[in-house]
Amino acid sequence: MDGPTTSTFEVRSPVDGRLLAEVADFAPAQVAEAVTTLRTAQPAWEALGPKGRARWMRRLRDWLLDEAEHLADVLQAESGKPRAEAQLEAPWMAELINYFADHAREFLADERVGSSGLLSATKRMVKVHRPYPVVGVISPWNYPLAMPGMDVIPALLAGSAVLLKPSEVTPLSALELARGWREIGAPPVLAVATGSAPAGQALVDVVDFVQFTGSTGTGRLVAHRAVDRLVPYSLELGGKDPAIVLADADLDRAVAGVAWGALFNSGQACVSIERVYVEDSIHDSFVSRLTTLVDGLRHGEEKTPYAVDTAAMATMAQRNLVHRHVTEALASGARALTGGRPTGVGTGYRPTVLVDVDHSMTCIREETFGPTIPVIRVADADEAVRLANDSSYGLSATIWTRDLARGQSIARRLDVGAVNINDAYANLFALTLPHGGWKTSGSGARFGGAHGLRKYTRQQAITTPRFPTLEREPAWFPYSRRRAQLTRHLFHAVAARDLRRRIPRIVRSRRWPGARSG
Ligand code: NAD
Repeated sequence: MDGPTTSTFEVRSPVDGRLLAEVADFAPAQVAEAVTTLRTAQPAWEALGPKGRARWMRRLRDWLLDEAEHLADVLQAESGKPRAEAQLEAPWMAELINYFADHAREFLADERVGSSGLLSATKRMVKVHRPYPVVGVISPWNYPLAMPGMDVIPALLAGSAVLLKPSEVTPLSALELARGWREIGAPPVLAVATGSAPAGQALVDVVDFVQFTGSTGTGRLVAHRAVDRLVPYSLELGGKDPAIVLADADLDRAVAGVAWGALFNSGQACVSIERVYVEDSIHDSFVSRLTTLVDGLRHGEEKTPYAVDTAAMATMAQRNLVHRHVTEALASGARALTGGRPTGVGTGYRPTVLVDVDHSMTCIREETFGPTIPVIRVADADEAVRLANDSSYGLSATIWTRDLARGQSIARRLDVGAVNINDAYANLFALTLPHGGWKTSGSGARFGGAHGLRKYTRQQAITTPRFPTLEREPAWFPYSRRRAQLTRHLFHAVAARDLRRRIPRIVRSRRWPGARSG
């Protein structure tokens, strides 16, 4: 970002290790300085109102669409993902802008509320949504543009200034987003602080709201730090999503959907299908078709666009983690029907189908975040639900069945934040629905209609008198027996819900000063 920095770090291609860029490594003091600058610019941004801010966001949308090919180049270079996947992120961000920009006025409008009883009956009351001045967004590497964008866009529309700390693995797309913001001439309310964990920690120390997406372990550290400062946070964390394939499923769709849901982005998605429970009667047929499909995928380095279906993993560390899960499963008796080893080129890992897997294996218990599909045979739907819920994670799940009503009823028994029936990823594209993990998969949610913007705001209550006011209210100073008794009887009469308790109080109240009250 802007401003001089003393140190830098390298960003390299996961495919062949070539140097892509040297990027500023923000020291904590520089993070704090960036937030101070954002704080100065934020009030004018808030004052623009939802309509004014939406205008800037629509310009950003147009910039994203105009630059889509270049952005795909950048994010493909830094993540190693196939072109078919890299090219989706910019238009997806543009559509996200459309939804929230079109609804910002409605979602952020003041809300007139009625009185809760006689004690507030003399007031006009309004609930106002005021933004957290500076929102800190910390994002992971798996969708280098979309992950930051999914939080930066709603936070800006809500009226906050945003400091974005992208992953040190893929910071270039985030820097492109900031370039776009500058090029459209928008107010200086978006800044990017590149760096690794220390920059993320420094961000948590200075912002007013933390939006974190990443692993459960890091999320826990971020939450601790935010709690220490008493600043609110929202966490989108890891997952171990189950797929349940019932005996009546459309097998062709279930096989194709599970393969895509597990292997999209080489399985490096929080909502990747990471375990598959298949009813006994169709298990063998499902596994055989799945193996054929996965075996036939084109895997490797993409020399020409659309030449591969799955490509490199984002880091060697991630590839090694995947291989550890696979080798541990094989050592405990599982079989790899296809794949089961690295490609030997860069960070590539062969898409893998595992069978004879059980629930004690790391490939079932821990997040793999890679191109593996462990399949488990189950007796029936009840066993599938029991095993699906036997996880510390609770992000999302898929169910494959022709009986949609039964699918919905099984969905309600799963301990996860979202369930897609006969589809994968679908809820992520439904911005009117929340996207949030249960259990150790998160806290809070992104999206979900009005909540998608209001989460970046604080509710402010404003009361104004409806009628001409007295010189002073009966409950104000100085206290006297007469006025204190009047107030007491008034409160009692208001709180009582039956005549015996309400009316006698009022009648007796005529006897003071000095009256004994019951
Ligand atoms: P990560 O937790 O290693 O890093 C995420 C971000 O946190 C990075 O920007 C990193 O620099 C920063 N960070 C690291 N240590 C920090 C600290 N102590 N304080 C503040 N920031 C710190 O995650 P990752 O490996 O980049 O991404 C993969 C993980 O993200 C997976 O677990 C995946 O499931 C999860 N994820 C979740 C969602 C979701 O919506 N639930 C979406 C995408 C990815």
